[in-house]
Amino acid sequence: MSLLKTDRMIRRVSELELAWLAEHGIRGIVSDLDNTLAAWHGDEIPRDILVWLEAVKSAKIGVCLCSNTRRPVRLARIAERLEIHHVPGNAGKPGKAGVLKALELMAVLPNEALMVGDQLFTDMVAGNRVGLTTVLVNPLADKEFIGTKLISRNAEKLILRGERARPS
Ligand SMILES: [Mg+2]
Repeated sequence: MSLLKTDRMIRRVSELELAWLAEHGIRGIVSDLDNTLAAWHGDEIPRDILVWLEAVKSAKIGVCLCSNTRRPVRLARIAERLEIHHVPGNAGKPGKAGVLKALELMAVLPNEALMVGDQLFTDMVAGNRVGLTTVLVNPLADKEFIGTKLISRNAEKLILRGERARPS
């Protein structure tokens, strides 16, 4: 079960306080894209998350997108617009390669990095395999890839037993 551990569960990535990141020695954030920063398949990033990203960047904390995307051009476009790093192409989570690439791009060590995402079996497992601090967010939108919806979400429910962050 340790590969499924989450150090923290929050509703949205924008709830991650700079003080908490500093306390945990975080110098780089490896972030999922879909349903973590952006609604599934859209390019738009919610306002609170844009504000949070600017604060993180101002604090000299690196951010790198690490996505199992089927749309690498969109991924690169969003990373460029946000002025953050990205692991090119499909990151292959829960494999370790994408996370390791993200750490290399941000020049940080595993114990200085945090993985944030909305899925246990891809995001949290990938982060735990490399030894990152892991933070699970609630998915931004209900709409997602049908395989994720039918299989992963039901399995997550069994494991989390309602322990995701409660909506306010
Ligand atoms: Mg996601």
